[in-house]
Amino acid sequence: MKCVIIGGGIGGLTTAIALQQKGVEVKVREAAPEIKAIGAGIWMATNAMQIFDRLGLAQRVTAEGISLEKVSITDRQLRILSAMDIPAIKKRYGHSIVAIHRATLQQLLIGSLAPGTLETGKRCESFTEDDAGIRIRYTDQSEEAADLLIGADGIHSVIREQMFPEAKLRYAGQTCWRGVSNHSLEDRFKRSTIEAWGGRYRFGFSEIADDKVYWFAVQATRPGGKDNPGTIKADLLSAYQNFAPTIGRIIHHTSGIIRNDLMDLRPLGQWYLRRICLIGDAAHAATPNMGQGGAQAIEDAWVLADQISRYDQPEQAFRRYQQIRMPKARFVVSNSRRIGSMAHLAKPWAQLVRNGLMKLMPRQLAGSRLHRVWAIDY
Ligand SMILES: Cc1cc2nc3c(=O)[nH]c(=O)nc-3n(C[C@H](O)[C@H](O)[C@H](O)COP(=O)(O)OP(=O)(O)OC[C@H]3O[C@@H](n4cnc5c(N)ncnc54)[C@H](O)[C@@H]3O)c2cc1C
Repeated sequence: MKCVIIGGGIGGLTTAIALQQKGVEVKVREAAPEIKAIGAGIWMATNAMQIFDRLGLAQRVTAEGISLEKVSITDRQLRILSAMDIPAIKKRYGHSIVAIHRATLQQLLIGSLAPGTLETGKRCESFTEDDAGIRIRYTDQSEEAADLLIGADGIHSVIREQMFPEAKLRYAGQTCWRGVSNHSLEDRFKRSTIEAWGGRYRFGFSEIADDKVYWFAVQATRPGGKDNPGTIKADLLSAYQNFAPTIGRIIHHTSGIIRNDLMDLRPLGQWYLRRICLIGDAAHAATPNMGQGGAQAIEDAWVLADQISRYDQPEQAFRRYQQIRMPKARFVVSNSRRIGSMAHLAKPWAQLVRNGLMKLMPRQLAGSRLHRVWAIDY
């Protein structure tokens, strides 16, 4: 049985690793001509780390990133409103959250595949399916046969578009700028993630390696805006001038800023059709407010590979994968959206009430909703 995965992102690569460990023949086709050091940083939450543990990758991911000791939501001046009990999380699940450069993670995943598994510069255009199997067509006019097709091609998935043309992306009302700063953080911010909330503006940062700080800046605004490359840094410095000076320093020492309108996917009723199945953002893209999109793709990878290895009939494996994964993935989509709205309350009185409530909330309670996400129960 030959399985082809379209998309060499976190989800596609992890699925390929998990399938190879089960002895399935698998190829990954990635549109990008090469895997480059773009995309800033990412937090690998404790649920992702537990799956990496099962795949034998957790130690290396931890060694190449920064295992966090503190995660806090603060006001503009970095005064804590709410903090996660990281030692308790580590004790319960065996792993903290790891902050890592995306390119480092992607290279580590690629290095864990059998040689020749990944081919870059292959953009899937469409596919056909009949009793004989699946034929995949690429934009370079080449074609390929497969028995199973996995769409891991992200939020703008062409595989999903062909399977479920009625699927809809939803703008979340916020736009995000991201970068990696060559900056040495003060000691009190090392091994931590801080997310500062201030009305229409939000700013998060985290050390991902020595003197490398991943940051994101989120603003409630209209979609489709464009930056002037000559003034983008000055524009962000001006937007965050009322925040703590550390934030200005982080922005100042950055070269290369990425902009994305934050979107999610209106939940699909089904993630598979016959021998074709979706995973990760292609199936259930969420806004990044819980830092869970990548972790959910990694959970998909494990469950899908496990089910494919158990059943002879792909459709049975896909059905079971969907049963196991859909409830948590939907929970993440809806809660991420809700947190995004709460973070950007515009009215000062509403911010005061929210901040007061967050300070009063015990740490255990603040994390209690997240246990549903962090626990792996399969
Ligand atoms: C601002 C921001 C911050 C985030 N922070 C976090 C975080 O801290 N933690 C976390 O867990 N998640 C985070 N996420 C979410 C996370 O990035 C995604 O959920 C995750 O990357 C999804 O992985 P994926 O493999 O499904 O898709 P992707 O990572 O999007 O990978 C899809 C791949 O498919 C390729 N591709 C696309 N079309 C084709 C085609 N036609 N043919 C071949 N290849 C194709 C693309 O080039 C890409 O390499 C964040 C997202 C954003 C926007």
